[in-house]
Amino acid sequence: MSDRRVVILLGPPGAGKGTQAVRLSDGLGLPHVSTGDLFRENLSNDTELGRRAKGFMESGQLVPDELVLEMLFDRVSKPDCAEGYLLDGFPRTIPQAESLAERLGAETPRALLLEVDDALIVGRAAGRLICKGCGNIQHLEFSPPAKAGVCDACGGELQRRKDDEPDVVRERLAVYHEQTAPLVGFYENKGQLKRVNGDQKPDAVYADLVRCLEEAA
Ligand code: ADP
Ligand code: ADP
Ligand code: ZN
Repeated sequence: MSDRRVVILLGPPGAGKGTQAVRLSDGLGLPHVSTGDLFRENLSNDTELGRRAKGFMESGQLVPDELVLEMLFDRVSKPDCAEGYLLDGFPRTIPQAESLAERLGAETPRALLLEVDDALIVGRAAGRLICKGCGNIQHLEFSPPAKAGVCDACGGELQRRKDDEPDVVRERLAVYHEQTAPLVGFYENKGQLKRVNGDQKPDAVYADLVRCLEEAA
């Protein structure tokens, strides 16, 4: 138990959590657990859970805690998470954070906050491109594909997320401030939070995240 490491990436929509999680997961040797990706998988497989989550996701609202918690705890019970895991997009509410703390018991998670100004968020999301094949994240302007619509990593098809449309992003951002931002204080009060400036080149953000984890060790 004491060897397990649980790292939480916090930050507004479009802050770069997914982009950094892919690299950190590799660097730390921890599985990347993204509740957004898990929900999108359920949506594309048209599962019961996907059908229940769909309306919330499309309107930029949070999926109710009980659905999220069941899915998340099921995922982190898998053998690959036995030594720890990297959470991206979870927790997103105080009750989710409390449920996680209860599950972890004496083990302390480390939360890393990616700070990005609201003014940058809509542009980050509006240009986001995701590979249908391998999940690689690119951006029309900040990480443009060599060939339009084609993933640089695998040659697969790049697509937009439905909920990255500006009106929905603004709603997601409001929901972030109302329901998720209180987690900053929650983890800060426990001495479990570090802040990183997310408005830098991805390599610089990554270096800062790694430095924070080394300090906390
Ligand atoms: P982003 O990375 O842009 O912040 P995500 O991919 O993490 O977005 O999440 C997409 C949507 O999935 C959210 O808007 C929400 O509807 C749902 N979702 C993902 N994770 C959670 C969670 N922990 N709690 C509630 N809803 C969630
Ligand atoms: P999140 O998971 O927090 O919603 P993503 O990692 O999916 O965020 O990033 C959102 C968009 O912003 C993507 O198109 C990504 O390519 C781009 N992006 C990520 N990090 C940076 C950065 N440091 N600078 C500029 N664009 C970035
Ligand atoms: Zn790809």
